[in-house]
Amino acid sequence: MRVPFNDLRTQYHLLAPALKDAVERVAKTATFINGPDVSEFESEWSSWVGHPWCVGCANGTDAIYIILKCLGIGPGDEVITTAHSWISTAEAVTQCGATPVFVDVDDYFHLDPHAAERAINSRTRAILGVHLFGQLFDAPALQALAAQHDLHLVEDAAQAHGATLDGLTPGSWGAAASFSFYPGKNLGAWGDAGAIVTRDKMLSEAFRVFARHGGTRKNEHLVPGINSRLDTLQAAILRAKLPHLESWIARRRSIAEHYLDAWRQLHGLRLPATRPGAQHAWHLFVVRSADRNELRRHLAAAGIETGLHYPRAIPCTQAYRESRHHGIDHSIQNQESMLSLPLFPEMTDSQVEHVVDSVIRFFHPPPG
Ligand SMILES: *Cc1c(COP(=O)(O)O)cnc(C)c1O
Repeated sequence: MRVPFNDLRTQYHLLAPALKDAVERVAKTATFINGPDVSEFESEWSSWVGHPWCVGCANGTDAIYIILKCLGIGPGDEVITTAHSWISTAEAVTQCGATPVFVDVDDYFHLDPHAAERAINSRTRAILGVHLFGQLFDAPALQALAAQHDLHLVEDAAQAHGATLDGLTPGSWGAAASFSFYPGKNLGAWGDAGAIVTRDKMLSEAFRVFARHGGTRKNEHLVPGINSRLDTLQAAILRAKLPHLESWIARRRSIAEHYLDAWRQLHGLRLPATRPGAQHAWHLFVVRSADRNELRRHLAAAGIETGLHYPRAIPCTQAYRESRHHGIDHSIQNQESMLSLPLFPEMTDSQVEHVVDSVIRFFHPPPG
């Protein structure tokens, strides 16, 4: 049996009529830029997340960049961020001309508030946390720290569609939260797409102006901006998928609970922990093992595709090797021991069982 890491083709077949309708609606009206689906999706996404303002943009990396830029982050400023993330978080800081300062992670793979506190100095302007793998970072602690030192807090929620902490959604603590709709995310477009949500109306207006060539009307250019729009086609695709997101996340949770239950007793396998008060959205199911490479080979031989998120902590990449960091031992231990196992809503029960059995067999090989 083959178990892919993700299976977007099956999702297409299940939703084909609605997706085809969406594409046809945009094609027939030829409203490829700023069509009605864009503002419809922005308002649907803002109510789905539960914050009043949403601005669509071209991708999740731009979303972080737009937030930082509109908060006034620039040359000479330092932004404290996590050593363990997709490269986008660091790139967005660099793109502003500011300096990312990397700190280590806690037990949940998230920016550690104590490590962040030690990295604060007179140049620090913001803390950029990442809700990695589908659960929220310690946002209350980082919000308090940011308030105490008069810093901005920004939430990268690219992997956290549907996650909550103490019943609150991404964007509840920071100035704004960025989302990505990269195809493999919990909600994915047919290409690149992103959005920003915020509780701050003035800030949302600044995002919109900056991302639309510095103005919101044709030939209005109030500030030097950029072109980062959510295409109408992507917005229409996202609208067709959004009604299913809740049930997809429920399916992710039930697979994750099954894995956790089945593997609880395995020595040598460290299961992902859920933060107290958190509802995990299980974007990724990441285990840790000293025998990671052997486990990965064993699963590959059983037809099971796995992933590494990510093979290197950001300060260990070529691009950021000269960057400053404050001791990132946990991030480095994680990069050597982590393995992401298949978990997606379209997985069949027999695929789930095959993953369960194959992992058990690695730790308890049958005799003989
Ligand atoms: C996917 C992702 C992004 C943004 O990615 P885009 O491909 O630019 O949409 C940012 N941060 C994290 C943690 C991500 O996983």
